[in-house]
Amino acid sequence: MVDEYFKVCVVGGGLAGLSVAKYLLELGLKSVIVLEAGERVGGLLKSEDVSGYVFDTGGSHIMFSKNPEVLAEMTALLNGNVIYHRRNTKIYYKGRFVKYPFENGLKDLPPEERYECLKGVLDAYIARLTGRAREPRNFLEWIKYVFGEAIASKYLIPYNKKIWKTSLDKISLDWVGGRVPNPPLDDVIKAAVGLDVEGYKHQLNFCYPREGGIEALARSLARLLRVNGAVVRVNTPVTSVERSLHNDLIEVSSEEFTVKCECVVYTSPLNRSHKILEPVLHEKAALLNELRSVSLAVVGVGARGLTPPYHWIYFPETNVPFHRVGILSNYSPANAPVGGATLIAEVSFKEDSAPPKTQVEREVLEGLESVGLLRLSNVEVTETWFWRDAYVLYDDRRRNVLSEILPLLRKAGIFPHGRFGSWEYLNMDAVLLKSRKLAGDIISHLNHSARHHH
Ligand SMILES: Cc1cc2nc3c(=O)[nH]c(=O)nc-3n(C[C@H](O)[C@H](O)[C@H](O)COP(=O)(O)OP(=O)(O)OC[C@H]3O[C@@H](n4cnc5c(N)ncnc54)[C@H](O)[C@@H]3O)c2cc1C
Repeated sequence: MVDEYFKVCVVGGGLAGLSVAKYLLELGLKSVIVLEAGERVGGLLKSEDVSGYVFDTGGSHIMFSKNPEVLAEMTALLNGNVIYHRRNTKIYYKGRFVKYPFENGLKDLPPEERYECLKGVLDAYIARLTGRAREPRNFLEWIKYVFGEAIASKYLIPYNKKIWKTSLDKISLDWVGGRVPNPPLDDVIKAAVGLDVEGYKHQLNFCYPREGGIEALARSLARLLRVNGAVVRVNTPVTSVERSLHNDLIEVSSEEFTVKCECVVYTSPLNRSHKILEPVLHEKAALLNELRSVSLAVVGVGARGLTPPYHWIYFPETNVPFHRVGILSNYSPANAPVGGATLIAEVSFKEDSAPPKTQVEREVLEGLESVGLLRLSNVEVTETWFWRDAYVLYDDRRRNVLSEILPLLRKAGIFPHGRFGSWEYLNMDAVLLKSRKLAGDIISHLNHSARHHH
């Protein structure tokens, strides 16, 4: 067993771990090690080239942000290896490709359905205005409260049930919190009478790496860390985190390696951390088993022939297993050989209940053909990647568990961070913002403990 000392040990080399290490280096802290369980860093940001078809194995990832500064920083990481797009995204509904977001794509529906949707939105609006609508208490009620019955039942409820694999009245309002924008009434009316409207804008323009798939982002970050003197160790699954008995240090251990450090950034999934964190949390560690996630299969298909020019498509209906398909060859031409198309279909599962790979692939391929995205005879490669935790579930236990656990960890010098370490639905831009803030907090923490000791 080898022991090494670092000021900060980061558990997990996904975007959260890599970016917090970057900000720590920028603040002058050089003694940082990142421990990654997998054989390479990146977490969900991984890409694989299979016979010239480049798949983002963690699902469709685009770079966007409401915050121009963060977006600029993200693109700067790519050193010019970047391509800019205006979103061309659809919802596949009753055999039509309806413009996304649905409430702004009403003009793609037949007149009867436009009427139903508009009527629903107006009824809901009037009910809110006159105080007749009851305040929503969960996600299901919120959908109807904001969008009305028709858009709820045609699109939002079936789509969300499909992705969350959970009854929507079990999802708390914490989840909504500003994430799903309320549709401006004027836009919905315009869309219903057949005018063009764009809907919410923050994701209208996005960018993506020109070469190498979304993993290019993680690779750039990892390179930056190595050049600036941080240590990044792969194939090192952390098995325990505990306070040392002899001094004020924290010991982070994997099978053949222990790091002694002043503080830890913890990005490993909390729902699977009972054993790892038990030495710190004691009997409270069992609470972590109550956290629920949705797992995901990403089925990549490379095929010859043309596909529509869309970036990604949502599938609310149950006739196909996937809820979303990304056409990655439209994100960057480098993602496919000339004349080929690269698709990834995302299929979610409750907890760890994914069926065998062959079954998922067969159902996905049949589904893709049935909606006209490819012909089976043109398929050249198929590959599937499983993710045990892709979406954290905002159920009624989440908030209680986190409010018990997170303060205990922080008190012990262990900073929970990232999508699965802090159990929050975070996109990449939010991860970067939080990483920057956390790096500053860690420096203060270290300065404070240093003063405390002298
Ligand atoms: C399907 C899907 C689509 C998405 N699309 C977008 C998008 O379009 N735009 C966007 O901005 N964001 C998107 N996101 C969100 C984005 O993926 C995340 O914000 C980001 O990747 C989270 O990074 P992370 O480091 O927190 O987690 P992860 O990427 O999961 O990284 C955690 C790392 O920790 C490692 N690890 C775990 N346990 C241990 C252990 N015990 N010891 C050592 N290492 C360990 C893992 O191997 C992994 O590498 C999407 C997410 C999903 C699931």
